[in-house]
Amino acid sequence: MSASLPLVFDPPRRAMPPRHFADLDESGRAVAVAELGLPAFRAKQLANQYYGRLIADPRRMTDLPAGVRDQVAETLFPTLLDAVREIECDAAQTRKMLWRAVDGTTFESVLMRYPDRNTVCISSQAGCGMACPFCATGQGGLTRNLSTAEILEQVRAAAAELRDRDGGRLSNIVFMGMGEPLANYNRVLAAVRRIVAPPPNGFGISARSVTVSTVGLAPAIRKLADERLNVTLALSLHAPDDELRDTLVPVNNRWKVSEALDAARYYADVTGRRVSIEYALIRDVNDQPWRADILGKRLHGALGPLVHVNVIPLNPTPGSEWDASPKPVEREFVRRVRERGVSCTVRDTRGREIAAACGQLAAQS
Ligand code: SF4
Repeated sequence: MSASLPLVFDPPRRAMPPRHFADLDESGRAVAVAELGLPAFRAKQLANQYYGRLIADPRRMTDLPAGVRDQVAETLFPTLLDAVREIECDAAQTRKMLWRAVDGTTFESVLMRYPDRNTVCISSQAGCGMACPFCATGQGGLTRNLSTAEILEQVRAAAAELRDRDGGRLSNIVFMGMGEPLANYNRVLAAVRRIVAPPPNGFGISARSVTVSTVGLAPAIRKLADERLNVTLALSLHAPDDELRDTLVPVNNRWKVSEALDAARYYADVTGRRVSIEYALIRDVNDQPWRADILGKRLHGALGPLVHVNVIPLNPTPGSEWDASPKPVEREFVRRVRERGVSCTVRDTRGREIAAACGQLAAQS
């Protein structure tokens, strides 16, 4: 997070991993290659291998002289992530990976295949300092920020998996795994820049197909708007009123609902993109008909047509008092939000059988 956005809920407890090629932008790659005594064109060659061919092991880069591959591997391509557990469900259409970083930190990503797209849900932090009481990740606190390369390695692994399995292509990326992306602002921003840049500088995924979620760090939302990257912003609201949101999403004590919605409006105005509102529907907590009315009214007032609400049936975590709302309650909630002129749908809950609510696999391991 940048110095202008102080937010210390729970400071990181661990040091960052070693530098990796994917941490570097174009000029950083040029410097790193020069430091190794290699000609300048090798920087572009390595980037083509990593972002274009999805290869992260220089020993497999056949256009690199055999005599320098080990040195390049040691200095620029340390192994950052080990897959310690993989679980599949939905007839192998959903696949969850639990990663272990070099310092033993664990976090996860989920690859979801649909008829028209392939989406990977990635983590931006190990753990999370936002302390939302209904969330498994929030209960463990923040272990540390992920590096840009650790974020990008989740993307590269997903893209390579799709390609190698049956020639599939990664089309969508959502920052909705562990962590609050905008609390790791600079590293997430660098990762997004390389996700959307065309090869050899990035994976070449359309900015419209990248979603960055946030619990509502209002200054960071405005800052992201000003970057003009035009990714989709998803604001996890979960309650339309400050009284409840102060308890469900503790960051609301810093930036109230109105401030988060003002920032979301700014984002929509600057980027021309519709903002997604995420609303985890929790039985007898935030699912009352009158709350649906307030939600619809406030969103219509703040964002007009530039908003879509995703209602997410809560995936209960083992031993938790929180539960999903009954289906009739969910249907009535959606109907009332729509009645206020706000587009609203129920989010597909892929991966419930493999504990794909954020943080659950890491919590179980
Ligand atoms: S819901 Fe999101 S922001 Fe809140 S604690 Fe969980 S991971 Fe963090």
